[in-house]
Amino acid sequence: MELSKKVSSIQPSATIELNSKALELQNKGKKVTRLTAGEPDFDTPTPIVEAAYTAMKEGKTKYTDSKGIKELRSKIAEYINQKYMCEYDYNNVLVTNGGKQALFNVLLLLINPGDEIILFDPSWVSYEAQIKMVGGTPIHVKTFSKDNYVPNTKELETAITNKTKAIILNSPNNPTGAIYDKNFLSYISKLSIEKDIIIISDEVYDTLVYDDEYISMVMFKESIKNTILVNSFSKSWSMTGWRVGYTIASKELISQMAKIQSHSTSNVNTPSQYAALKALDIDNSYMVKEFKKRRDYLFEEFSKLGLKFIKPKGAFYYFLDISDFGLSDKEFCDKLLNYGLAVVPGSAFYYDGYIRLSFAASMEDLKNAVEILKTFIDDLEKKTI
Ligand code: GLU
Repeated sequence: MELSKKVSSIQPSATIELNSKALELQNKGKKVTRLTAGEPDFDTPTPIVEAAYTAMKEGKTKYTDSKGIKELRSKIAEYINQKYMCEYDYNNVLVTNGGKQALFNVLLLLINPGDEIILFDPSWVSYEAQIKMVGGTPIHVKTFSKDNYVPNTKELETAITNKTKAIILNSPNNPTGAIYDKNFLSYISKLSIEKDIIIISDEVYDTLVYDDEYISMVMFKESIKNTILVNSFSKSWSMTGWRVGYTIASKELISQMAKIQSHSTSNVNTPSQYAALKALDIDNSYMVKEFKKRRDYLFEEFSKLGLKFIKPKGAFYYFLDISDFGLSDKEFCDKLLNYGLAVVPGSAFYYDGYIRLSFAASMEDLKNAVEILKTFIDDLEKKTI
């Protein structure tokens, strides 16, 4: 049977797959420290869980408006308005099954065959796959550690053609932890107007920021009509399994995307929507504080090991340059897994010679990871591997 070319052209999500592989090894009794998937190790805060439970007991278990319950859409709009001085209302919000569906709806909305979408490498594993699934052409523009992974504007301009439909931004960035500053975002804002390009701003890590002040793309009012914000509750409130995300855009674009969702998944499961409604009242700063502590711990340890990297300013990943060790990133990860540490090769993010480690894991796991890396690097240097 001939399967669709679109599906045949993509690979499974490497982050999800490697995490499952490591989990399977753990289940078979092998001691594996899993720093693969970016999934906070905190429990979902109790009031959020209770809100879902109460909703279920009250019979809130049926279909809702496929765009999401009005209370949640309004509260998301207020939350974003307060944080970023915007003027959205519930008509600007579509509640989605996680950030992934938010992004997928946007791409389905925008792309005609052959349309080009620019993304910056290293780029999160699902961008390219999603673009291909809807018949678009991904255009990869490389960023570099010497620039703190902020895209080079000349290279970006060279990549723009008359087929360019949108640019995907991801700040705080997965996998580099980079945060784009005001200058760069203001440049993108102007570029989007001048070239009539949509900005898809994936801000799922927007509350996980450790040093600088965070600036959102929606703060640039002149390009607000061209800006589509993608966000999620997964990382900020440790709600990965609840599958609640959202898209914010102009009312016209939201109502077009709502058509897509009404024919694909309908609403996000109803109790999860009530959980998300509660999440917006919960202060997650205790998680942010803990992530910062872990980031700082790893910074010291990785520096002592002489590794090459940029200190992440947000999100919860280290992106380490392992190109000097004489192994491809995949070989490095495979061999490291034999030592009991699971991480993701940079090539999953279209960036060879690097590995990504998630520090959304317990301090104990991080300490184990450092010990394993030390031994591994020693053995590599002694050539005993
Ligand atoms: N976004 C997280 C990661 O990059 C979770 C897994 C996934 O959805 O890719 O690890």
